[in-house]
Amino acid sequence: MPGDYYETLGVSRDANQEELKKAYRRLARKYHPDVNKEAEAEERFKEINQAYEVLSEPETRARYDRFGEAGVSGGGGFDPADIGLGDIFESIFGGFGGMGTGGVRRRNGPSKGDDLRLDFKLKFREAVFGGEKEIRIRHLETCQTCNGNGARPGTGARTCSGCNGTGQVRRATRTPFGTFAQVSACPTCEGTGEVVEQKCDVCAGAGRKQETKKLKITIPPGVDNGIKLRVPREGDAGLKGGPPGDLFVYLTVEADEEFQRDGIDIKSDVPISYLQAILGCVIKVNTVDGAEELTIPAGTQPNTVLTLENKGVPKLGNAVSRGDHRITIKVVIPGKIGHEERELLEKLAKLRGDAHGKGGLEGFLGGLFQK
Ligand SMILES: [Zn+2]
Ligand SMILES: [Zn+2]
Repeated sequence: MPGDYYETLGVSRDANQEELKKAYRRLARKYHPDVNKEAEAEERFKEINQAYEVLSEPETRARYDRFGEAGVSGGGGFDPADIGLGDIFESIFGGFGGMGTGGVRRRNGPSKGDDLRLDFKLKFREAVFGGEKEIRIRHLETCQTCNGNGARPGTGARTCSGCNGTGQVRRATRTPFGTFAQVSACPTCEGTGEVVEQKCDVCAGAGRKQETKKLKITIPPGVDNGIKLRVPREGDAGLKGGPPGDLFVYLTVEADEEFQRDGIDIKSDVPISYLQAILGCVIKVNTVDGAEELTIPAGTQPNTVLTLENKGVPKLGNAVSRGDHRITIKVVIPGKIGHEERELLEKLAKLRGDAHGKGGLEGFLGGLFQK
């Protein structure tokens, strides 16, 4: 078992951070296995690191001062390096918030409010172009009646009888490393040492209450599924003057009937007639910017993809740069044709000499393109 961490580093128990660091650096240089080839140098180097790791963190140092090294080396056979001191302290002492003075102060002083999540659906075009959206949220706000202290206005606080005003209660806790005097925050006063004489009527003494609120949020152009927007300070209010948490808006984008997203490109299908495909034409197609002219070259094959540049989705964070709109041309072969159309087509087929034997209409169309 290594000796006392303060002894290991050769400093007094009230050494400050600077003295600790100096001592650690001096010893680490002296015993570093690359430098010092003596047999026990490596072991010493490990001990120095372990001691410094604990003592350099005010929180773990406070815990060590109270509980000694039982928590980090008393179990035997586990290596702190594998687990991390934070984990060890969490698993042994975790969840009470009352370890040492540091823990108690942190629990009972101002604390930050919780972050909140809101799921929000956007229409396809709203995701493409962004804009302002109004959202409704429910979050905890500091009670205005009592200013968050939980006491009915005009009433005071008295010393908590559960802990005689210390804010802490002790109890014995068994752990795999032995029995500890466990100090935790007093449940009666939640560690404040005081209880209010009369609770605030509005928040029932909690200091915060649930409020529904409307907020305007700005959606940047180019957002997609899974993007989350942070709205600072719109989570739950903090306790005892602590800062509020943040609100995170998780976006999902509704599917569109006409358009699909492919990264920053937009895809859509456009039907044209077989005559338009053969002869070529200019048609109007829908884009997210409205109708645009698209030139179909003569002899366009089914499923040809034509591109309208810069009609796609703005790049998130750089909206001047946009993707393209890729249009897949769907050539529609009519299932039924009128008497006159049939006559004309048969005439054409005869003209091309492929009414029979070359695949009928398909052969006729294919042959025409090659001309
Ligand atoms: Zn109140
Ligand atoms: Zn108490």
